[in-house]
Amino acid sequence: MNSKQKHIPVRLAGLGDGVHELLFTVDPVEIDLPAEFQQEVAVRIDLDKTHHQAALHVYVQTAAVSPCDRCLEPVTIPVDTDFRVVYAHDNSAEGGEDESEIRQIDVNDPVIDLSEDVRDAILICIPMRRVCGEDENGDAICKDAIPPERNADLQEKEDPRWDKLKSLKLDQ
Ligand SMILES: [Zn+2]
Repeated sequence: MNSKQKHIPVRLAGLGDGVHELLFTVDPVEIDLPAEFQQEVAVRIDLDKTHHQAALHVYVQTAAVSPCDRCLEPVTIPVDTDFRVVYAHDNSAEGGEDESEIRQIDVNDPVIDLSEDVRDAILICIPMRRVCGEDENGDAICKDAIPPERNADLQEKEDPRWDKLKSLKLDQ
C-alpha cells in the first residue's frame, strides 16, 4: 500500500487492441490544483491501442475562478485543452504525424496515471493577467470602478531598459 494513489488511472494492460474512449471526473484537489479551481475536472481520453503501443489523445475541461487583476471581482477562466502522449513497450513506437511525446510502459506497473499531465495542461491555460475582459479596443470590461492604484492601464509603464536606451541616444 505504499504506492502513490492514482487519480486518473489508465490500465493499458487490460485493454484490447482498438479504439477506446475513457471518461474521468476528478476533484481538482485530488490532482493538486490550486484553490482557484473548484469545478470538477472532466477528462476524456481517446485511446488507440495496438500491439506495441497506446496512443492517447486527452481532452481536459474545467474552470478556475480568480479575482480580476483590476477590480477584484471574481473572474471565471474556462479551461478547455487537449494533449497527446504515446506509451510504448519498446523503442519501436511511431509518434505519427504529430509530435506526441513517447514514453515507455513500465512492465511492472502497466497502470499509467495521467494526473500530472492533466494538471500541467490545465495550469498552462491560466494567463498571467486575469481580468474581467477587454472590448475590441483593449479597454477593460469591469463591472465596478477600478481603484486607480490597481489600474495598470492608468499607470505609466516604466521600464528601466528604456532609460538606458534614452541615455544612450543622449550620449551620441
Ligand atoms: Zn474586473
